[in-house]
Amino acid sequence: MMNIPFFDLRRQYDCIRDEIDRAMAEVHQKGWYILGDNLSAFEDEFAQYCGCKFGIGVGSGTDAIYLALLACAIKEGDEVITVPNTAAPTVSAICMAGATPVFVDVDEKTYNMDPEKLNELLERRTTELPKAIIPVHLYGQPADIGPLLGIARTYNLKVIEDACQAHGAVYYSKLSNEKRAENQIMNNDSRITSRRVGSFGHAAAFSFYPTKNLGCYGDGGMVVTNDEDIFHKVRLLRNYGQTDRYHHKIKGVNSRLDELQAAILRVKLRYLDSWNERRKEIAEIYHDSIRARDITKPIEMAYGSHVYHLYVIRTWKREKLQNYLKQKGIEALIHYPIPVHLQKAYEDLGAKEGDFPVAEKCSKQVLSLPIYPELEEKEISKIVNVINEFCK
Ligand SMILES: *Cc1c(COP(=O)(O)O)cnc(C)c1O
Repeated sequence: MMNIPFFDLRRQYDCIRDEIDRAMAEVHQKGWYILGDNLSAFEDEFAQYCGCKFGIGVGSGTDAIYLALLACAIKEGDEVITVPNTAAPTVSAICMAGATPVFVDVDEKTYNMDPEKLNELLERRTTELPKAIIPVHLYGQPADIGPLLGIARTYNLKVIEDACQAHGAVYYSKLSNEKRAENQIMNNDSRITSRRVGSFGHAAAFSFYPTKNLGCYGDGGMVVTNDEDIFHKVRLLRNYGQTDRYHHKIKGVNSRLDELQAAILRVKLRYLDSWNERRKEIAEIYHDSIRARDITKPIEMAYGSHVYHLYVIRTWKREKLQNYLKQKGIEALIHYPIPVHLQKAYEDLGAKEGDFPVAEKCSKQVLSLPIYPELEEKEISKIVNVINEFCK
């Protein structure tokens, strides 16, 4: 039987082995492993890729969010708004900064922060306002960042994008809805004003965890920003708050992207667009060929370009479908089965079942199918066939 794993990083390595091995060997030749030329080069290359002036390599995506919050002057007791249906690290980073997470529910079509619900939450507030929002570009689809930025401006909130799942995703800025609709058929038109996610907020966080669209061979992350102050602060914070050797201006931490990872990521960055294109192709095949009525497929909004970190379908028969796929050798996973506000670790926030109905409903129905650039045509067909068969 053909077994189809949810991820298979060896396949990617096999495709680029020579370049990766050479890049790593060069680092060993130099014998310089922390804060070196590869990191500086990759910081510039990745920031530029995102349409940002500055990039600061850090130890993980979690640290990128945490350090961006500190650099935005978020402090003990401040409130920071995010969504409940995210990877838990979005929320742990808020707590690491000493801040209190506040949740707002998501839009059922996109699984991303619902601007109307954000607005309601802020309008209802009679006590002190939260200080920042962290929209998550979940599964690789940009959150509707235009309206979110408008609301943030009205209430004077800092915006930190959690772009850990959305390397290369584009949001079409400054477009009317008509223009956005047109865009669906002409998004290769160079006249369209569009920018990659990560370039919209005061700062953005990326993760290079191995399975992300751009991943290294260990942990890694980056803060990107156009704000010079935030840039300088994160640079100090990630390296013990040190200005010159043995001179510490602020209390910092140790969170750096190392030279080996930076060298690997420089190689992989050159493939990111073609890998994302392939993910989109696979998503299109799924979209056109999965025919079951009981299954809700992802909707790509006209205001953005989805990079399909995950291809997430929804069905009320989720457990049965997952088991059926498993019997046929296909691994499908759930992102995420328990929304963060219902996790044991965050009990103290006082949220309960029913508080965020959309996120909760989705958590019971979502199922992620394998989607990675190296997935083969015959594997894609098998996945489609097995699902269509199950739903007959
Ligand atoms: C992966 C991920 C993170 C955390 O990144 P790490 O590098 O694992 O710390 C944060 N937020 C989201 C949405 C993620 O997918």
